[in-house]
Amino acid sequence: MENLDRGVAIVGAGYAGMAAAVTLAERGIPVTVFESGPVPGGRARRVLSQGRELDNGQHIFVGAYTEFLRLLRVVGVPPNALLRLPLELRYTNGLVFRGLLRARGVPFRERVRAFAFMAAMRRYGWRLVRDITVRELLERFEQRGAMLRYVWTPLCVSALNTPIEHASANVFLAVLRDTLGGAAGASDLLLPRLDLSRLFPEPAAEFVRAHGGRVLCGQTVRELSALKEFSRIIVAVGPHQLKTLLPEISVEYAYQPIYTCYLQYPQFTRLGHAMVGMAEGHVQWVFDRGALLGEKGCLVCVISAQGEHQELNQDQLARACDDELRHAFPGLPDPLWTRVIAEKRATISCTPGLKRPQCGGVVLAGDYTDPEYPPTIEAAVRSGIRAARALL
Ligand SMILES: Cc1cc2nc3c(=O)[nH]c(=O)nc-3n(C[C@H](O)[C@H](O)[C@H](O)COP(=O)(O)OP(=O)(O)OC[C@H]3O[C@@H](n4cnc5c(N)ncnc54)[C@H](O)[C@@H]3O)c2cc1C
Repeated sequence: MENLDRGVAIVGAGYAGMAAAVTLAERGIPVTVFESGPVPGGRARRVLSQGRELDNGQHIFVGAYTEFLRLLRVVGVPPNALLRLPLELRYTNGLVFRGLLRARGVPFRERVRAFAFMAAMRRYGWRLVRDITVRELLERFEQRGAMLRYVWTPLCVSALNTPIEHASANVFLAVLRDTLGGAAGASDLLLPRLDLSRLFPEPAAEFVRAHGGRVLCGQTVRELSALKEFSRIIVAVGPHQLKTLLPEISVEYAYQPIYTCYLQYPQFTRLGHAMVGMAEGHVQWVFDRGALLGEKGCLVCVISAQGEHQELNQDQLARACDDELRHAFPGLPDPLWTRVIAEKRATISCTPGLKRPQCGGVVLAGDYTDPEYPPTIEAAVRSGIRAARALL
């Protein structure tokens, strides 16, 4: 182990930074985490909006997020903080996909072709020698019709936050390998029942403090030379924030947005399911915060990746979401309030041949640094653990 007597400074208390902090604190290393924002969590955090606690964006996790789930246990988060549902994609038009082969309303031959595609990818070792787009890959393996529209496209957009025309087949295959092609339970959906700061970053901060470390919110690090007193530094900022601290290794990425629209209906309003797919308009998924967090009547619409919805202003987008919900769930009353949160640089674009930063002598963590995963919570957590282990 390196000499870390003077402690480790971690810049950024997103999921990556907090995963690094917990991993070091567990081994008795004194850590100090610096975070610009008022709460830890970064791109997965609680926001206060007109007196209401919301998330900056609804998140979905899967059973394959093994390192994230392990760290939740380490910091003492109870299992019921996540609602675990066997993979079921349920759409407002009545289509229901349970795994790959059990799909109500989908022609048998399409399901067989999907099965053959998965078998071929397994034979390829879930990796192509030359990376192509997900659209090209799916065309090559004749994935069309309902499977393309209701399974592959939403899986790609949700996991890679990149449209299939631009998304990397190799990153998509890494996701398929670990979910649909993985162990039992790997493709289960896990939905948070706490806000995203309470779910992991805050219990992680408690864990760090209980092990002699510090987590300092509202403290921006302007330059790394200000952290000379520490033995080592882990830089766990977002990809677009790296430029200020480490211009020499930062990469100019393209980014993809995620829009989240909260619509508060009267308290008796319920979806009947925690999560329902919508594939007819802008909205891709709608979640019932009443079923998840007890916030009755609050529905959350999610629109991942670039698209025509970006041409609407926030009021227009909230109205469009309300219209789409009314169409799907006739009889819905008027919303009492709405709120759109636009994360314009939610993640980097996951395109073929994506470059990850070359770290040089610096220890980097962050969802964009993972060599094979899309920018997700699991990628962030793994990167934090990897950064901490590099010092141990
Ligand atoms: C709306 C939305 C929905 C998403 N949905 C999903 C999903 O369903 N499933 C999923 O797995 N992933 C999802 N993601 C992606 C996931 O949230 C990210 O991959 C993950 O949060 C990235 O964590 P990170 O720690 O790498 O980076 P960040 O969360 O960006 O953390 C970096 C932190 O560093 C801080 N910082 C930056 N500069 C400084 C500085 N100079 N000094 C001090 N602090 C600094 C920032 O304030 C920030 O808190 C979503 C993202 C968004 C935005």
